[in-house]
Amino acid sequence: MTVLTDVKTRWDRVAQRLRAELGEDLYTSWFARMEPEELDGGRLTVSVPTRFLKSWIETHYISKLQKIGEAELGPLDSVHVRVRMRAGVAARPQAEEAPAAAVQSQAPQAHQVPVIEAAQAAAADRMPQLDPGQTFDTFVVGPSNQLAHAAMCRVADAASGAPISFNPLFVHAGSGLGKTHLLSAVAHRIRERRPDRRVMFLTAERFMINFVMALRQRDTLAFKDQFQAIDVLLIDDFQFLQGKTMQQEFCNAFNALVDSRRQVIVAADVPPAQLDSIDMRMRSRLMGGLVVDIELPDLETRRRILQSRYQTMLKRDPAVLIPDEVLEFIATRVTGSGRELEGALNRIAAYQQFNQAAVTLDLASLVLRDMQASPDGSRIKIDDILKIVGRHFNVGRTDLLSPRRARSVVVPRQIGMYLAKKLTARSLPEIGRRFGGRDHSTVLHAVRKIEDQIKTDDKLAREVALLIRLVEQG
Ligand code: ADP
Ligand code: MG
Repeated sequence: MTVLTDVKTRWDRVAQRLRAELGEDLYTSWFARMEPEELDGGRLTVSVPTRFLKSWIETHYISKLQKIGEAELGPLDSVHVRVRMRAGVAARPQAEEAPAAAVQSQAPQAHQVPVIEAAQAAAADRMPQLDPGQTFDTFVVGPSNQLAHAAMCRVADAASGAPISFNPLFVHAGSGLGKTHLLSAVAHRIRERRPDRRVMFLTAERFMINFVMALRQRDTLAFKDQFQAIDVLLIDDFQFLQGKTMQQEFCNAFNALVDSRRQVIVAADVPPAQLDSIDMRMRSRLMGGLVVDIELPDLETRRRILQSRYQTMLKRDPAVLIPDEVLEFIATRVTGSGRELEGALNRIAAYQQFNQAAVTLDLASLVLRDMQASPDGSRIKIDDILKIVGRHFNVGRTDLLSPRRARSVVVPRQIGMYLAKKLTARSLPEIGRRFGGRDHSTVLHAVRKIEDQIKTDDKLAREVALLIRLVEQG
């Protein structure tokens, strides 16, 4: 067996070749996060952080990887790709993982199907994936989201050919505040009331996958054509759009649509000006329409979101009994997003069902104890976390934010990111930016790793618990 450090040094050359052959964009999209694991006889094992990457590389790049690997490492019998984290952890539905199923079902036949069909299949299998429950009827309107809601309604109800009021419509908000819900509501509404208008609903990531697929089949024309045929384009999680070529492609599709007076709606976790990885020109085009945000819901809106969720729950299972005072308790204690409110409600309902116990205030407060750890997500600042973690581990702030990979810095940095995710309402890309301009996937990796280690490492668990207390006490 070849010593691992040896493979690691020679891996740089493999990476360089891959970059040279594939170009910067493709390389960054699929290989930047690949690491060599082992070279045992002629068997090379590499690892990637997500199942999605693994399956994509296996279906599209395995022979290229083997060929380039051989050029640098000598003859290889086989190349194996594995996911760096434990399967149970990696299997969680996260932004990165979301398209995995679609890709797996589609990728194997990708070479045989002309791209337009593949793209249409992708588009078609997106629409049924719309959550049927996420409509305008189930969206609770309050002061925090009134403007976003009004703008979306207006766009959804426009007749084909009618003058367009604002284009593009850009909505931004932290995670769980209803962006995807609103986009889905627009798609449902148009499908229902204006079936002649053709809608396409994509995440930025799906856009990139479709484009790469078109590139591989040398059929980018068909890829571009599909945008000619639509009236309304909905793009979710725009902050994940990465790479120059991808941006250029998106920009082309975007300009073509907006210039021919078709509607584009974009959702992201930050306003256009803060989309650091997006080209200036694109950013200013995004600012050129209507930009609206969604804020954290106020108490009254939280009450109504909970009521509405509870009614839906009751329809499915009339046995769930949650008294008004408990709903009120959740509304006052859980001051975060719609997603957090739902999470709290589900947790209490599950507890009641498993334990066959009546839901009382005492029980509710017990079940929600760890959610109350951060009664106000916006109260805790990432700066405070950096300060407290730095002090605790005796690591300077500059080191925490630097690219240094020494263990004495990496562990505190990962704990810091974990705390930022747990104790603030910031999104992964935002946390990455605040931790020295790191990628959202680096943050995700850190959060999962610490989550994982806490389960088995008591010392670490106590240390993290202590840090949480310190951060909360400010
Ligand atoms: P985002 O895309 O902004 O991260 P989502 O749209 O996925 O957030 O919302 C998270 C969850 O909270 C969804 O289940 C959604 O239905 C619910 N939710 C968020 N805001 C509202 C609201 N105003 N009314 C009803 N449900 C909401
Ligand atoms: Mg979303």
